[in-house]
Amino acid sequence: MIPVCEPLLDDQARANVAEAVATGWISSDGRFIAAFERNWAAYCGVEHGVAVCNGTAALAVALRALRLEPGSEVVLPSLTIISCVLAVLDAGCVPVLVDCEPDTWCMDVARVAARIGPRTRAVMPVHLFGHPVDMAPLSALAERHGLAIVEDAAQAHGAEYQGRRVGGLGTLGCFSFYANKIVTTGEGGMVVTADPVLAERMRDLRNLCFRRDRRFLHTEIGHNYRMTNLQAAIGVAQVDRIEDHLARKRRIAALYTERLRDVAGLALPVERPNTRNVHWMYAVVLDDGVPFDAAAFAALLRERGVDSRPFFLGMHEQPVFHDRGLFVGERHPVTERLARRGLYLPSGLGLTEAQIDTVCAVVREIV
Ligand SMILES: *Cc1c(COP(=O)(O)O)cnc(C)c1O
Repeated sequence: MIPVCEPLLDDQARANVAEAVATGWISSDGRFIAAFERNWAAYCGVEHGVAVCNGTAALAVALRALRLEPGSEVVLPSLTIISCVLAVLDAGCVPVLVDCEPDTWCMDVARVAARIGPRTRAVMPVHLFGHPVDMAPLSALAERHGLAIVEDAAQAHGAEYQGRRVGGLGTLGCFSFYANKIVTTGEGGMVVTADPVLAERMRDLRNLCFRRDRRFLHTEIGHNYRMTNLQAAIGVAQVDRIEDHLARKRRIAALYTERLRDVAGLALPVERPNTRNVHWMYAVVLDDGVPFDAAAFAALLRERGVDSRPFFLGMHEQPVFHDRGLFVGERHPVTERLARRGLYLPSGLGLTEAQIDTVCAVVREIV
């Protein structure tokens, strides 16, 4: 079976982890944490990085840091991971969904204005599959309405919008370093920001909100969302390798596109002008004329030795939220279609050109 994704670790990662073990710095203090935070924030073009235990925690800490009044609304895409909505709920806020674009699969920024109301306080663009959200009009809207921007860049490490890296474009930028992400620490996450006050607040929120003036006195609810030095040891080595990883992802995408361009019935990833798509995963969407859906497509691929993963199912289609009175009766047709027609193909950093040839031959045979 050709796997969808696998992490690529190098000798530096192994040496760093060995150092952490040898020196006993295996919890959330240690030199690799500070270095990882500094290096990743700098890579994103901002000053501060706050490492946490995963990307879901990064989103939660970011939203909590904004101290939004309970009941404030946060606008986010319907096609995303549940972590985004959970973070909004965790902050006592109300998630408001917008549909996505049919070609970039990202939040449709043109639909955001209509969803802004008197209680809207933040927007959460999600850079999906490595393609940046159209940030210029979104930033203009946010500016006009005084909204914070919390980027979810978990799938887009190193992606660029108008020459600037994602994560550093909004008020706060959130990353996951899960094993299948472009930069990985196994499990891990980080929020980057130019704002020192927000950074300080996030350091408290990830560490149980111990008061700095009196350690075991608490005046706010915090969490233990700390990252370990062991994870950061891997992260430091990963950041050093990122340009190589991005080059591999882009090359994989180019090879796929070259071989699948003329397959009737398949929509392939795009790259808008003035953006750099890092192609975290190479996704394809079946045209409506194809007589089977993505689930059947995935089964046919699997029978032929090719693993794949479906797109997210829209947040407005989740029973867990309907049970709570959220998104009931909402329709987001682009998201609904992508959830049923889209999947992503093997895109691991170790994927060979011969494996890509095999995958493409199989796809061609099926479609
Ligand atoms: C992976 C991912 C997350 C969550 O990260 P975890 O580290 O798995 O908690 C959040 N948002 C997006 C878009 C992701 O792809």
